[in-house]
Amino acid sequence: MSRPIQALIDLSALERNLAIVRRCAERSRAMAVIKANGYGHGLMRVAEALKSSDGFAVLDLHDGVRLREAGYRQTILLLEGFFAPDELAVIEQHRLSVVIHCSDQLAMLPAVKTRGVLEVFLKINTGMNRLGFRPGQFASVMEALKASPAVGGITLMTHFANADEAEGVDDQLLCFNEVAGSVRLPRSLANSAAVLRYPATHADWVRPGIMLYGVSPFAGKAAADLGLRPAMTLKSEVIAVQNLKPGERVGYGGVFRADGPMRVGTVACGYADGYPRHADTGTPVLVDGRQTRTLGRVSMDMLAIDLTAFPGSGVGSPVTLWGEGLPVEDVAQAAGTISYELLCALAPRVPVAEV
Ligand SMILES: *Cc1c(COP(=O)(O)O)cnc(C)c1O
Repeated sequence: MSRPIQALIDLSALERNLAIVRRCAERSRAMAVIKANGYGHGLMRVAEALKSSDGFAVLDLHDGVRLREAGYRQTILLLEGFFAPDELAVIEQHRLSVVIHCSDQLAMLPAVKTRGVLEVFLKINTGMNRLGFRPGQFASVMEALKASPAVGGITLMTHFANADEAEGVDDQLLCFNEVAGSVRLPRSLANSAAVLRYPATHADWVRPGIMLYGVSPFAGKAAADLGLRPAMTLKSEVIAVQNLKPGERVGYGGVFRADGPMRVGTVACGYADGYPRHADTGTPVLVDGRQTRTLGRVSMDMLAIDLTAFPGSGVGSPVTLWGEGLPVEDVAQAAGTISYELLCALAPRVPVAEV
């Protein structure tokens, strides 16, 4: 038998989560955000499970090409658009849609050969101050796009900074509506948090990411309460057991010290598998389906868990690091990060199986 770690990807969970997007935003088209290798779940695998979506959003040009070459005919949007004029021939050939967010991109449009081929998502900076034209630039940018023979359709787009936070989207939505109000063009605003929380932002296209993977975008609300099912379960097994005497320590730096006799399980999962090294003692983990805690520092290839209360668990016992039965959100919180980062960081060395 090989090293027991495995990521299980539940394809039906992906489909069900998309159905929840549909239920929340019935009148909108759904652009499944599958950047970052489908949030770590595997680009092509996720695309197949979500093939009924109206579009896919990715970052990398080659991901867009792979999807097109695999036969997907829906909209494929490059979320950062293009970076150099030579990409435009490929974009044109594969009929990829592009975000245009800055004047440098406008200046490259003459590289497009075919009239009306380019579907543009015009990004407006409504307060996130990451990508996008400022409201004051909108009129002149629209003129430039209309004057470009390359441009076919235009969709107006923005991205929210606080859809998952107490602050919400009011200011950004107001700003967007002021800018977009004067033109009749399709619109796209909502990430997962806005899909779930702000129907007024749904518009023509919603752009859910994290919720498709069965993860809650909200700190205070569990995915299960939103009807979402986790798509990724990271599993491994106990590969060794140590019986500690009081005062003995565990792992690098000896940062955990047993205050009494303890049984410690060594699990085949470490930070080189994508488990967060910053997860301190006490991070939740399941062994034989029951919750216990990690102990001490996470190593590159292993971590330690507390088996003291589980005498029946030992070498060979299944361990769930996150997923079914243990929300990745809980692990992320214990590690001082967010679930997005954990999912995306699943290491290529972890074997993946579909369920
Ligand atoms: C990543 C991304 C999304 C999806 O965000 P979630 O929070 O994962 O739903 C939507 N729109 C843009 C522009 C993004 O970059």
